[in-house]
Amino acid sequence: MTVREGSLDAPTRHPIAWRDPAFYDEAACNAELERVFDICHGCRRCVSLCNAFPTLFDLVDESSTMEVDGVAKSDYTKVVDQCYLCDVCFMTKCPYVPPHEWDLDFPHLMLRAKAIQFRQGTPTKFRDSTLSSTDRNGKLATIPVVVHAVNAASRSPSLRKLGERAIGVHHDAWLPTFTSPTFRKQAPDSAPHPVRDGKHTPGKVVVFSTCYVNYNEPGIGLDLLKILDHNRIPYTLMRQESCCGMPKLELGDLEAVAQLKAKNIPPLAELARAGHAILTPIPSCTLMYKQELPLMFPEDEDVKAVQDAMFDPFEYLALRARDGLLQTTFTKPLGNVSYHIACHLRVQNVGQKTREMLEKVPGTQVNTIERCSGHAGTWGVKKEFHEIALKIGRPVARQMGEHPAGSLDWIASDCQLGNHHIEQGMGAAAEGKLAHPLTLLRIAYGLS
Ligand code: SF4
Ligand code: SF4
Repeated sequence: MTVREGSLDAPTRHPIAWRDPAFYDEAACNAELERVFDICHGCRRCVSLCNAFPTLFDLVDESSTMEVDGVAKSDYTKVVDQCYLCDVCFMTKCPYVPPHEWDLDFPHLMLRAKAIQFRQGTPTKFRDSTLSSTDRNGKLATIPVVVHAVNAASRSPSLRKLGERAIGVHHDAWLPTFTSPTFRKQAPDSAPHPVRDGKHTPGKVVVFSTCYVNYNEPGIGLDLLKILDHNRIPYTLMRQESCCGMPKLELGDLEAVAQLKAKNIPPLAELARAGHAILTPIPSCTLMYKQELPLMFPEDEDVKAVQDAMFDPFEYLALRARDGLLQTTFTKPLGNVSYHIACHLRVQNVGQKTREMLEKVPGTQVNTIERCSGHAGTWGVKKEFHEIALKIGRPVARQMGEHPAGSLDWIASDCQLGNHHIEQGMGAAAEGKLAHPLTLLRIAYGLS
């Protein structure tokens, strides 16, 4: 029997069988890792995507047999630890994903291995669980008297070195500051605009603010609300919101993902069924609702309702433009913008809607970079991965600095964490130029 080189059909993904005890069977997982690693060793297409593949290929090449069977099973974790579940290998490179008979889903196999590791416990479990508790950290750090102390500590070189030794956060990694009051406390009520449903877009919006925007950069969320208001789109916030669960997923803590899902999905599903579009200004959170939760809970009708109502903000705005319901008069040119498309937006398969929207602004030249920044949520701030994260992001930082139209006015990424990571990689060349694309759109509209 011959095996086809690549599938001609659209990639599909299997549900994640995380509630089946067999999912946590280490020997079965290792057998599947060996099967997949062997295919990857013969293929090697993904060598430049991240550090997981070079780690694997080095292990193979340095083994006694120079094949996967020469790699110790105990070394498989070295590959697993390098994967931050960006999904790019699955979505953009791999010809062997389902429905191909080799049935290869590298990121979700890494997820399974991470889930087994998490259950067994790792030496960095305390640090990893703390960093991924974004909601709890945000609630504590934005208490008014606490917020200044927390921010001062994260800017103090000596405390950062202490923090690196104590909990393993790299002393040089960019860390977000916390803001009080939070976005949800600052957000103004929507004006009573009439609801105008379009062919492609519901006419009323729920903003899922996300931990990052709520606790760290409320300005991004406020800019989104200004843009919605300018376009006469009524909006609301969820009554109560918890973390979407992506940081816990990246850690393999799937029980914690399920607990967060139980808090967020019922109210979101109610709003979705009432005809709202749901917008989240962080691509990883959007992807959680569009892809990961539906694969973890394929039978759950509420999850499906939320998935169907979920939009990336620029996806929604671009569709609103197609509906003829978006203001396209812009008063401020943006000049030369280097725009980085985040991995978790690429894998949503909605096209380059942020670029499309920014290019509607007269006097704006967009230089688009489609490559991983290397930040990857909490992964890039960890002591053992930060240098690698900067190395992965180096080509992006270089390309962002080389705008073909001349001197750079702005650097922007849909992923604000990635944006700051790129800024760190660019050094002085990025000074004063960082903005979220929603902020750029608000500026282009001439809104203050
Ligand atoms: S999901 Fe991303 S980080 Fe993980 S192996 Fe694939 S490309 Fe690398
Ligand atoms: S994930 Fe697919 S494309 Fe990438 S190295 Fe493995 S087999 Fe090749």
